[in-house]
Amino acid sequence: MNIILLGPPGAGKGTQAHLLVEERDMIQLSTGDMLREAKDSGTEMGKVVADVMARGDLVTDEIVIGLIREKLQGEKGGGFIFDGFPRTLAQADALGDLLGECGETLDAVIEMRVDDDALVDRITARSTCGGCGEVYNDNTKPIPADGKCIKCGGTEFNRRADDNEEALRNRLMEYYKKTSPLIGYYYAKDMLRTVDGLGEIDDVKMAIAGLLD
Ligand code: AMP
Repeated sequence: MNIILLGPPGAGKGTQAHLLVEERDMIQLSTGDMLREAKDSGTEMGKVVADVMARGDLVTDEIVIGLIREKLQGEKGGGFIFDGFPRTLAQADALGDLLGECGETLDAVIEMRVDDDALVDRITARSTCGGCGEVYNDNTKPIPADGKCIKCGGTEFNRRADDNEEALRNRLMEYYKKTSPLIGYYYAKDMLRTVDGLGEIDDVKMAIAGLLD
């Protein structure tokens, strides 16, 4: 089963993707994670995207489609979770073509709906484990008192450079201008399913499970 998690920054796509990986052996393809990895390891492409990401703008379709193309040729596991991809109509068309080329189909697009005020609160309270990427939130899922990640025991936690109010405003603007048209695009293809992303992590997980099973 191949699915897209669609929603603005802070909707909880990464958190739910991690749960699906753990429980269903699915493979998370997060273009944001791939781009951060390229940036941190200082590749040529990483240098090109660093400023764009810091501002909260979208990197070019060509770059992210190239990243996804590579990953689709690797392990398939229990299916792919596209997290943060596609973000434009051109990327959505390309994904359809790429899946077709490797004999795969897209089974569902799950829109995680949240209100904008909640997004700002969530994002400014967010941190991730440097070891495994587990996502924490100062208010709803704080780092354990012993300072160790619940998943890997790591002790280093990072706040994303673009999780500040200015970059977030831009990321939200990019979402509404370029990504939200995908809601209509997948609705018209009869693939769109919506969950309330504002609930507790477990409730959102159950809602997604209800759609997938
Ligand atoms: P994310 O971790 O999904 O919030 O992505 C972080 C940043 O990476 C975004 O603000 C963009 O600058 C860039 N990015 C990630 N995925 C894409 C994509 N599919 N298309 C364009 N830019 C992307």
